[in-house]
Amino acid sequence: MQQGRHFLQIPGPSPVPDRVLRAMDMPVIDHRSAQFAELGRAVLDGSQKIFQTSGPVVIFPSSGTGAWEAAIVNTLSPGDKVLMVETGHFATLWRQMAGRWGIEVDFLPGDWRRGADPAVIEERLARDTSHALKAVMVVHNETSTGATSRIGEIRAAMDRVGHPALLMVDTISSLGSVEYRHDEWKVDVSVSCSQKGFMLPPGLGFNAISDKARAAAKTNKMPRSYWDWEEMLKPNVNGFFPYTPATNLLYGLREAIAMLLEEGLDKVFARHQRLAAATRAAVNHWGLEVLCQEPKDFSPVLTAVLMPPGHDADQFRKVVLDNFNMSLGSGLSKVAGKVFRIGHLGECNELTLLAALTGVEMGLSVAGIPYRAGGVDAAMKYLEQRPQGNSPAH
Ligand code: PLP
Repeated sequence: MQQGRHFLQIPGPSPVPDRVLRAMDMPVIDHRSAQFAELGRAVLDGSQKIFQTSGPVVIFPSSGTGAWEAAIVNTLSPGDKVLMVETGHFATLWRQMAGRWGIEVDFLPGDWRRGADPAVIEERLARDTSHALKAVMVVHNETSTGATSRIGEIRAAMDRVGHPALLMVDTISSLGSVEYRHDEWKVDVSVSCSQKGFMLPPGLGFNAISDKARAAAKTNKMPRSYWDWEEMLKPNVNGFFPYTPATNLLYGLREAIAMLLEEGLDKVFARHQRLAAATRAAVNHWGLEVLCQEPKDFSPVLTAVLMPPGHDADQFRKVVLDNFNMSLGSGLSKVAGKVFRIGHLGECNELTLLAALTGVEMGLSVAGIPYRAGGVDAAMKYLEQRPQGNSPAH
């Protein structure tokens, strides 16, 4: 048993703030009561502010994967064609799920080192003159690689070619950490969950829904029951759920939304960018390589770091866990053993980040990995030289 606080430095689940833990430490209440309805409406209204939408948001007792499925089964029909982009492991999993639902996926290949390229999407859509593609489905922040996709630019590309496909975006590891505008970017379905930027335990899945997506749900042919938006939206009007909701997670959600809005979303986004830039300063100083190669796509949420050849990332993570009581994210599927991931999201500030980077730097030394000492100093210098709230150009 190691002493002191465990450093949960994976890119989600992220550490749950004490304020949120305290807010959840409540008796379970009757989910058909007036008291619950107040909580229900508060979290549904509050969630709209985080997605930056005036349209409905539904909250499922589910993981993010469930919310992915909800987006598919409410809008598409078996045999539909969609465009997806291979940004990494999670885009690949969403693609597999779409395939299991009988969707034909045009999967734009990627090298897992950048976000989706709006120009490539534009070119593909321009060729689809018959509008066979029913949706463009993109992961905003690819948690397996630390690369974000520029959703505003993808929307602009879709508009330029006048393509009517739905735009569906996985904001699972970006919402509440990276700038995101559901309405302004005319996203049709935004998919998210509780355990990343919302700083909650796992267990809630979200769909923010545009009018166009809701209209598609009226005519699409996919069977569904638990995930059916309309079943949710009817009782949601009065703050209720069609089945037993995750009451105590909703208490936590109300508190987490309050925290995000008190800090101010712009400040939250700037804080994440700043901590991410400080992390990259450390990684660059160590002489290690950041997996994401496109500076415009550097993730504010996590940094995936490539191990030098001949060194195993999982062995390194074990050294860090055993010696310094810190969990780093593993490499997933194609990059397993090749990268480790440093999460810097949610309840994270200068000092917790520097402690995490110190654990990484000591781990490099203990594990006998070649590196240049002084990465933490480089991160400190970065943070000292840039006053808070100053969002760095990435
Ligand atoms: N999409 C992204 C971008 C993710 O990071 C994750 C999980 O980390 C998922 C989807 C799947 O979410 P969950 O594990 O909550 O089902």
